[in-house]
Amino acid sequence: MPPNKRFKLAAPEIDFLYMPSSIGHALVASAIGAPLAPRGPGRRYWIAGILCAVLPDLDAVGRPFGWGDLGFLGGHRALTHSVIFAVVLGLVVAELAFRDARWHGYRGRIIAYLVLATASHGALDAFAAYGDGVAFFSPFSATRYTAPWRPLDLVNEICWIWIPAALIILTVRRLRTTRHRPEPNAAA
Ligand SMILES: [Zn+2]
Repeated sequence: MPPNKRFKLAAPEIDFLYMPSSIGHALVASAIGAPLAPRGPGRRYWIAGILCAVLPDLDAVGRPFGWGDLGFLGGHRALTHSVIFAVVLGLVVAELAFRDARWHGYRGRIIAYLVLATASHGALDAFAAYGDGVAFFSPFSATRYTAPWRPLDLVNEICWIWIPAALIILTVRRLRTTRHRPEPNAAA
């Protein structure tokens, strides 16, 4: 069975399926960011990673309005879903949003987080049961890639992405809290 046969849907229904996956992208970005975070990273850290992870879908911003995908970006899942876009966006956001002194010493980690958060978007889309393959090497190659196995529809996304990502975030948080908790007799 062709991978997309299950999803012969009208455009508005595809949009409906398409929208919630931003939550999946955001959760994966936060799961990547959790082990890389400096202590007490604050809202800016999490929001920057989430924005990097959802921004690639800018190429489909016209869909809810019936305008189609942005042709100058190569269509949906092309340039903004590529590896080169992830590297450039990660470096630019790190430079713009994490320049002040409190981030010194964490530059490598911040860049890794932002680049991986952005790149995770294309990687996740390659497993989506619906839509085009991902042009990972755009603008140098227009070839689109899909994973050999594409299980991610809305229900599977919740089971396989949302829940595991949330567990990773909570586990890292718990481990860090435990590690930094002062000994009961430390003040004595
Ligand atoms: Zn996408």
